[in-house]
Amino acid sequence: MRWSWQIGEIAGIRVQVHATFAILLGWLAIRAWRDEPTLLSVLDGVAFVLAIFACIVLHELGHALTARRFGIRTRDITLLPIGGVARLERMPDDPTQELLVSMAGPAVNAAIAALLWFGLTSLGTPPSLSPETLENLPFLDRLLWVNVVLLVFNLVPAFPMDGGRALRAMLAMRLSFVRATRIAAALGQTLAFAFGAIGLFSNPFLVLIALFVWIGAAAEVSAVETRSALAGLQASDAMLTDFEVLAPSDPLSRAVELTLAGSQKDFPVLEGDVLRGVLTQDALVRGLSARGAGAPVETVMLEAPQPLAARVPAEEALASLNAPARLLPVIDRGQLVGILTADNVLELLRFRAAVEEPPGRGRSRAR
Ligand SMILES: [Zn+2]
Repeated sequence: MRWSWQIGEIAGIRVQVHATFAILLGWLAIRAWRDEPTLLSVLDGVAFVLAIFACIVLHELGHALTARRFGIRTRDITLLPIGGVARLERMPDDPTQELLVSMAGPAVNAAIAALLWFGLTSLGTPPSLSPETLENLPFLDRLLWVNVVLLVFNLVPAFPMDGGRALRAMLAMRLSFVRATRIAAALGQTLAFAFGAIGLFSNPFLVLIALFVWIGAAAEVSAVETRSALAGLQASDAMLTDFEVLAPSDPLSRAVELTLAGSQKDFPVLEGDVLRGVLTQDALVRGLSARGAGAPVETVMLEAPQPLAARVPAEEALASLNAPARLLPVIDRGQLVGILTADNVLELLRFRAAVEEPPGRGRSRAR
């Protein structure tokens, strides 16, 4: 995540804080000073927030280390003012594993609260049961209650928060992955709307969390839908097989003619059987204004992109299309058999979506 600083590494996972976190610390220090203008009160306020965030790091490590048991790595853990985010490479496909990964975080908070409870009780100072006087409680008592709050809050079934992920996993045990995600996301967005409305009148953090949930839920649904729609397809299913090619020595006017005559926007440039480069519409327009219509294609074409094998999964092909060349050559046994553009893949997605839910319900979810 941009604007983040690394503060350490635990179990091989980078832990970083986002710049906005410093603003939160500053704001809390000022508040502590206003309540009680002594250095001790400020230090206590800051130390308490740091202790909370240490618990949040442990919570995220709970997710990350459980995911690792299922062979999924975690890129990093980032602390934001609204909490922590562990960037897992992916979520497990198996609903049981997703349930375990999503519950591991809250379980850590439950364990911390239980440890503090037993520790304080065995020291002869049992924690107070009245959380309404939180501000006046001793440090460790407050920390115990914060962990209870973190536990309860994360269990709210607002997908993509932990409780929502657990709900999606449980739904996915009976329904298709796409349907389970849609239901969980709809509930998540309904709850986000409620959080936002309540937050407007009480706590601005709630509004932030509502936004986070709302955007997160929408993004997850579209990612899951794309993945599911492309499941089982290969690059060769989405590629264009009827296409025009240019020779390196062709003038740019030839590319203009072909563009106007058909619907193709980008062209592979072949010399005999060998792919020499790609002429995208952007490159063509730039070339026309800089060199004129008589300039040979080879002077303005882009370098030939790495070709795709015809059998590459369509999902992977779509990811490769994020390169500067908007066209990828597809080869089979050394021969150019088609070209793939983002437009092709999006068309395919649209058609598949129109044919309603793809096959693969219940446990045999496609991926
Ligand atoms: Zn969590």
